[in-house]
Amino acid sequence: MKPEALLHPTPAGLFCPIGRFHVDPVRPVERALITHGHSDHARAGHGKVLATRQTLDIMRIRYGEDFCGAEQAVGFGESVDIDGVSACFHPAGHVLGSAQILIQKDGLRINVSGDYKRGVDPTCASFVPVPCDVFITEATFGLPVFHHPDPKAEIGKLLTSLKQFPDRSHLVGAYALGKAQRVIRLIRDCGYDEPIYIHGALAKLCDYYQGQGIALGDIRPATIEKSTPDLFKGAVVVGPPSAFQDRWARRFNEPLISFASGWMMVRQRAKQGGVELPLVISDHCDWPELLETIREVSPSEVWVTHGREEALVRWCELQGLPARPLHLVGYEDEGD
Ligand SMILES: [Zn+2]
Repeated sequence: MKPEALLHPTPAGLFCPIGRFHVDPVRPVERALITHGHSDHARAGHGKVLATRQTLDIMRIRYGEDFCGAEQAVGFGESVDIDGVSACFHPAGHVLGSAQILIQKDGLRINVSGDYKRGVDPTCASFVPVPCDVFITEATFGLPVFHHPDPKAEIGKLLTSLKQFPDRSHLVGAYALGKAQRVIRLIRDCGYDEPIYIHGALAKLCDYYQGQGIALGDIRPATIEKSTPDLFKGAVVVGPPSAFQDRWARRFNEPLISFASGWMMVRQRAKQGGVELPLVISDHCDWPELLETIREVSPSEVWVTHGREEALVRWCELQGLPARPLHLVGYEDEGD
């Protein structure tokens, strides 16, 4: 069987005609297999959704009880038969519950890795290399210029700034699912045990992470009352990046704006966003990790879903490895 007969790109996303299911569809479909809870991969309104228990819980938190018609939780390492096609979920190391989905039929193995990273992250299960014939990878940071530094060293910059500017409120922008909890956990692992204040948009997901055994320490709502303007002097406040552009941020004492994202490697982006303290912390692979993963998985073909496809496709070809871009649209990652 040709790989395209088992899985191929459509406007709604990757589709398996034999099992009649889509993977991470960008529009409502009858049957969806979902890799992780970021809003560009996990959308509401599908008939049936198969995903890990944690991804299903996260979808429910974000979209409400009726986020889909029916759901089926799949554990890591567990295989599910869908009309004669086997689907098996393995950890992707991207955010809590994130999975790669291995699709198999008649000995042909196609692995959809979703979004993934290789760096250490105590807030989710680590990526597992899965041998396969076709490896489907993202390429968000698929250019040789992208090297992500040690995240603890980045958090070190934040802690140094807190000492240097003890009166300023340090506002750290981090996406609500995954990045925010990882940043809080990193701050704790670097020895900071003061209360950390969070924007209301992070509350439910932080509670969920804590409930899943990811300790985040003393986190409190960042609600400003007129009587307590000094409460946030020299405090760490974590919120979604969008909140820092509105009035909410200006109520803090001499706010120092920070942002945790892989894109903070690009100085221009930090400048444009008015970010005083950029922290390069990414939940995606950098260039060396992408290459390392492809070497390790050792597929006979690579398909690249989204991001900077051309450089990665070219690199594969130079290794004698057939590769092609899928040009999937609709994946503007909320969790870079
Ligand atoms: Zn993602």
